[in-house]
This record gives sequence, structure tokens and C-alpha cells, in this order.
Amino acid sequence: MESSEPPPALFSAPQPEAGRREPRRPVRCALCGRPLTGARSRRTGLGPACDAKLHPAGPDIRTRRHEVDQDTLPGT
Ligand SMILES: [Zn+2]
Repeated sequence: MESSEPPPALFSAPQPEAGRREPRRPVRCALCGRPLTGARSRRTGLGPACDAKLHPAGPDIRTRRHEVDQDTLPGT
């Protein structure tokens, strides 16, 4: 392994068309249009609040699995 590594020339050149993969580019929420700052929000393209609205998975899945495990369906 040599200590003299080549400079990152890829990031040095401006790429206007490659703005999609630029982490510094402000990404806005696809739902409310607010600027996203979190890495996860920029990945999904949705803010934490909007992502929770579209994907209410957490407690819902646990509740369903809990019902299935208990096998107790009220009203059946
Ligand atoms: Zn939003």
C-alpha cells in the first residue's frame, strides 16, 4: 500500500447532470416539499412525518403479529 494516493478528481469536476447523486443538493419532500436534511429522508424522498404517514408500519405490524400469535380475534 502506497501513501501517495491520487486526488479525488471525480469530485473535483462539476457535474451539473449528475446532481442526482450529489449529497449536498437540497432534497425536498415529495409530499410537503420541505427540505430534507436527514440521510434517510433524502433516500426515501420523504420527510419523517410524511414517511410515517405513508408507511405506518411500526406499531401496526406488531399489533397484527400480536393478534396472530394470541389467536384471539374479538367478534369472530
Ligand atoms: Zn413531507
